[in-house]
Amino acid sequence: MTPEEFRQAGHALIDWIADYRDNLEQRPVRAQIKPGEIRAGFPRQAPEKATTAAQLLHDLEHKIVPGITQVQHPMHFGWFPSNASLASALGDIASAGLGTLGISWESCPAATELEEVVCGWLRQLTGLSGEWQGCIQDTASTSCLTSLLLARERASDFSQNRGGLQGQQQAMIVYTTEEAHSSVVKAALLAGFGDHNLRRVEMAPDTRAMRAASLAQLVADDIEAGFMPAAVVASAGSTGVTAFDPVADIAAITTQHGIWLHVDAAMAGSAMLLPECRHLWDGVEAADSISWNPHKWMGTILDCSLFYVRDVQHMVRVMSTNPSYLRSSVDDEVRQYRDWGIPLGRRFRALKLWYHLGIDGIDSIRARLRRDLENARWFADQVAATPDWCVLTPVALQTICIRHQPAGLEGEALDRHTLAWVSDINQSGVAFMSPSTLDGRWMVRVSIGVEATTREHVEALWKIIRQRAQSIATNSEIEYDIGI
Ligand SMILES: *Cc1c(COP(=O)(O)O)cnc(C)c1O
Repeated sequence: MTPEEFRQAGHALIDWIADYRDNLEQRPVRAQIKPGEIRAGFPRQAPEKATTAAQLLHDLEHKIVPGITQVQHPMHFGWFPSNASLASALGDIASAGLGTLGISWESCPAATELEEVVCGWLRQLTGLSGEWQGCIQDTASTSCLTSLLLARERASDFSQNRGGLQGQQQAMIVYTTEEAHSSVVKAALLAGFGDHNLRRVEMAPDTRAMRAASLAQLVADDIEAGFMPAAVVASAGSTGVTAFDPVADIAAITTQHGIWLHVDAAMAGSAMLLPECRHLWDGVEAADSISWNPHKWMGTILDCSLFYVRDVQHMVRVMSTNPSYLRSSVDDEVRQYRDWGIPLGRRFRALKLWYHLGIDGIDSIRARLRRDLENARWFADQVAATPDWCVLTPVALQTICIRHQPAGLEGEALDRHTLAWVSDINQSGVAFMSPSTLDGRWMVRVSIGVEATTREHVEALWKIIRQRAQSIATNSEIEYDIGI
């Protein structure tokens, strides 16, 4: 494809995307297709002859779009808000179009230095001190894995330079809670700690926040038993119920024992753009690493996860590889982001944050977050004030966990009822929410915060929910497919 052909196909694609975003509300929220249906629309062998950009655009519309669950739809209340900003999409397109290679400062000085700049901006915008230095990772999962590798090497005094984990006498221990994201468990396993050395600290029953006193006791017991406490992963806004572990109390324990503290704020980090929310991660300055995803509620295009550490020297010592072909004369003066994580080749992700902040502007981003918080409070108030309905956990930000509990429905019958009304709505395509479990019983998470979602949409959702749940409760004859 020549630059001139790119210009023409690109204009057509941008026009198409603009129309697509404009008309999204007409589409069903959940993809209305069966497994394998999209795959079957494509030949089994790679095409032998080239086709045109116009043909591919046609196929994009007819073969791909039906297989998209519309998470930008204003009636999408599933999982978490993410990935919305068209301003940021422009930056991502620029990143792809420039075709840069990010393997060292020298291979693209602008990619390295703009990343330093935007990470500094976001640090300030979330109220973090100048002690922190950041980089952009693909996801919070990668950030968490990186933090546990750093913790492992600190606790073991660089076991990687000796026999690695296989040469360690003392088992190293990681602490988190049941409420932590699945990526935390995955990171602990991949970093070699082993499931036996992963402690699930007790939580307060109402908030599901880690109990610092229980952590202190477990750490003391482990030390007594000859183990080596290595890392705590605290959730600042868990995915399930937005639980905030008490970071200050936890940090007092980790600081005392030299344990690495990683704060996973993947979802709730966006809230820290609002000064009034920052009390929720009080004490964060005493952590060792923090990650949060602008590609979630803030709306930057995926993938964009910020990872901040305080001890850069330690990180570089753990992560650095320095083959001769990557060395250059300016190595002492510049940042080499390949030593801040796992990949060597890195995308020019800073561009999408720069575009996002530059075009949307922090004021409009903050106004949108505040709108969502107000909508969530309104919704929670409606649910709490309605007989037979309950809000199950404290509403810290924009996610509300609810259940319809008509008199006489309990246990598995209640589970069937919950799954029946939520899957009925989800399958209809009018709205979408995530069913989830809390203490072994089904509930429904309503996550508010899609860019296009206004109060009217939240009001419409509440009406739909009440109608469906009540009509199902009074007509037990109806069989619902509860596959979700
Ligand atoms: C979404 C989420 C993650 C995982 O994020 P990825 O960027 O998809 O890896 C981790 N922790 C929390 C609290 C989350 O909400």
